[in-house]
Amino acid sequence: MAQEKVNSLVLRYADYSESSRMLTLFTLEHGKISASAKGCRRPKSALRSLTELYTLSELLLSGRTGRYTLTGGSLIDPFYDLRLDYERLNAASVMAQIANTVLPEEDPRPELFGLTARCLGLLAHEKLSPSQVLTYYSLQVLHLEGFSPNLVHCSVCGGTADESPFFSLREGGLLCGECSHTVPDAEKISPGLLKTLRYLASAKPDDLTVFHFSPGIENDILDMTENWLYAQLDRRISLRA
Ligand SMILES: [Zn+2]
Repeated sequence: MAQEKVNSLVLRYADYSESSRMLTLFTLEHGKISASAKGCRRPKSALRSLTELYTLSELLLSGRTGRYTLTGGSLIDPFYDLRLDYERLNAASVMAQIANTVLPEEDPRPELFGLTARCLGLLAHEKLSPSQVLTYYSLQVLHLEGFSPNLVHCSVCGGTADESPFFSLREGGLLCGECSHTVPDAEKISPGLLKTLRYLASAKPDDLTVFHFSPGIENDILDMTENWLYAQLDRRISLRA
């Protein structure tokens, strides 16, 4: 049977029968797919390490859409150090949950794949703050999927937002003072929070190695990002360990 090589991250799995696993994979080539890994839980199975959560591998698959079977492969990065720290492991789990939620089946998202692999690497190898990586990842995923908040102009009139603007989840971003009176969920947004949101919206993954939340900003930005995820994905995802 024809085999195909794919670059892949394991987003989740469900064990079945005595020794097998159904994997949900995020692949560079096909986006999100399911694949069965028969016998992978046997102690001596060559597939065992390839089916661990969040592992980045080059996998060999046989079969076709909807009926892939894992037949072999080689590890690229197991991100082993994620497992040494509860907060990092939790952040990886939340990233996988976000990716699984936004990804349609069989629709390649190469940029999102690269972002996910890089952010797992920042957590595992660079030991960056899990809440910073998670906030960045969430905002970037929403950006790639076309759900960025409007952080420059008023979301209602399109005019320049004031020095100290309002924010509305319902309207999708900033509001000027005048429009804030017409929007029920308008709330003041602090200059520090806005500055951090703007920074994270445009930062590259490597920028995070020299970035730190200013004191007092962490709770506000986690709240804001969780609310934004909920507004866009219609799903409550907690970014806190
Ligand atoms: Zn306005």
